[in-house]
Amino acid sequence: MKKDIQELIERFLDEFMQIEYKGKDHIIARKHYREVFYELIPKYYGPKKSYSQIKAPDLISDPALKNIVVIGAGYGGLTAALRLERLLKRYPFFKVHLIDKHPFHTIKTQLHEAAVRKAEVSIPLYKILKNRNIQFHLGEVKNIDTENRIVQIDERFLNYQFLIIAIGSKVNYYNIPGMAEHSFALQTLFDADKIYQHISSVCALSASEKDENKVKENLRFVVGGGGLSGVEFAGELADYVLKCITNYNINNRNIEIILIEAANRLVPFMDNEFSEKIKQRLIDKGVKILLNSKIVKLTDDEIFLENGKTIKTKNFIWTGGIRVSDLLKRGGLKTGPAGRLIVNQYLQAEDNKYVYAIGDSANAINPVTGKPVPAAAQFALQQGRLVAENIYAEIFGKSKKAYYPKVLGEVVSLGKHLAIGWLALPILKKVTFVGFLGKLLKTAIREKHIILLRKESRNWITY
Ligand SMILES: Cc1cc2nc3c(=O)[nH]c(=O)nc-3n(C[C@H](O)[C@H](O)[C@H](O)COP(=O)(O)OP(=O)(O)OC[C@H]3O[C@@H](n4cnc5c(N)ncnc54)[C@H](O)[C@@H]3O)c2cc1C
Repeated sequence: MKKDIQELIERFLDEFMQIEYKGKDHIIARKHYREVFYELIPKYYGPKKSYSQIKAPDLISDPALKNIVVIGAGYGGLTAALRLERLLKRYPFFKVHLIDKHPFHTIKTQLHEAAVRKAEVSIPLYKILKNRNIQFHLGEVKNIDTENRIVQIDERFLNYQFLIIAIGSKVNYYNIPGMAEHSFALQTLFDADKIYQHISSVCALSASEKDENKVKENLRFVVGGGGLSGVEFAGELADYVLKCITNYNINNRNIEIILIEAANRLVPFMDNEFSEKIKQRLIDKGVKILLNSKIVKLTDDEIFLENGKTIKTKNFIWTGGIRVSDLLKRGGLKTGPAGRLIVNQYLQAEDNKYVYAIGDSANAINPVTGKPVPAAAQFALQQGRLVAENIYAEIFGKSKKAYYPKVLGEVVSLGKHLAIGWLALPILKKVTFVGFLGKLLKTAIREKHIILLRKESRNWITY
């Protein structure tokens, strides 16, 4: 029987190379497909079918052999799909599939601007994927069957040879009573739109309210979580609400913005010096900051803190934590803190070499510090490029590259005209920015993302 298989596979390979590589003697591709056929033939055809009945064209048309499936068209997933398509341009046998539950790419790093002043932060995917050999699937991935290598998109199924998980993260409510029911999240464009509609109507309602205490309560906005998204949102809100109520002739002493953080400083992943600067600038904008304050319960109009204090508000925005969807765990994949997929240095699932994860979904470890790489757009982009190259290397028998995160800088925007941060310069130097210059830098970072998308997709992309 073993000899039968060997003969069959060699015959297959000859036919296969003839069809897919026009007879070109591509030694590495031949080696790769020999391994693939050895694995697939007994699984797909034996022992039910006699090996002599198997025809190469049937097997070649089997999508499991050639589909590279990317779930998520965010920073990481889109970069990986575009890079793969470019790398595999000469091999039409492979098909890159991109799945997302939305038909647009969200510039998530600017989501606070959409939530507060309705800034444009999405790009239709058709503009990015135009003329690219990438099959887009609109829908939500409900299940990943790693044993049979199938993903379920709503009611449809798609086989894969390699899978890249880039589903980002969602809000983590940490089981705090009332948090999921009574807070606004800021993770998607829909969340941002909901917040925008709410703030607009709160300001408008306050214009006709005669009772000043009621106006004060109406205009008390509370942000839970002093990480990157919380401080950026609070800074933006301070500028906007002021403008909004001025337009309605409401006295600005009625506005109150409170930022609550459980740790002893804001944006804890940045250096203390930056945390202090951010805190001071927010205070200058009129934001009240409560550090070392843990929220333990929420009702529809009240926040309860661990220290016994309460705050009355109906405007509570929760940016206090993220986690990855249970999809990975349900697929039998090994997950770590916050549900992120445990990956090796090549960003492959530890126990499944056909599955890769990137961005917020991956628990990538920084080999220098031994700590998980933070959830940030710059790392998702780097990882997207790396997994595309590693899958290409895996297919063609080249060596894969280990992931080393490069920190290019950290910039936190605090309203329309202000940002604080630093940027890495060649030869280990870094330059710090505070104020309008920082804001220009933040804008430049966003534009760089668009420019890179244009370069990778070879399309002229606009919002
Ligand atoms: C308000 C805010 C401000 C931020 N500011 C910054 C910043 O200044 N700098 C920075 O570096 N980072 C910032 N971040 C973090 C940054 O946005 C994320 O780290 C980054 O978006 C992660 O990229 P990703 O590719 O992993 O996932 P995402 O960009 O989130 O993309 C995930 C994609 O997967 C899709 N998806 C999810 N589940 C499914 C499913 N089951 N089926 C189909 N599709 C699915 C989603 O629709 C989405 O398109 C901010 C985040 C927020 C919320």
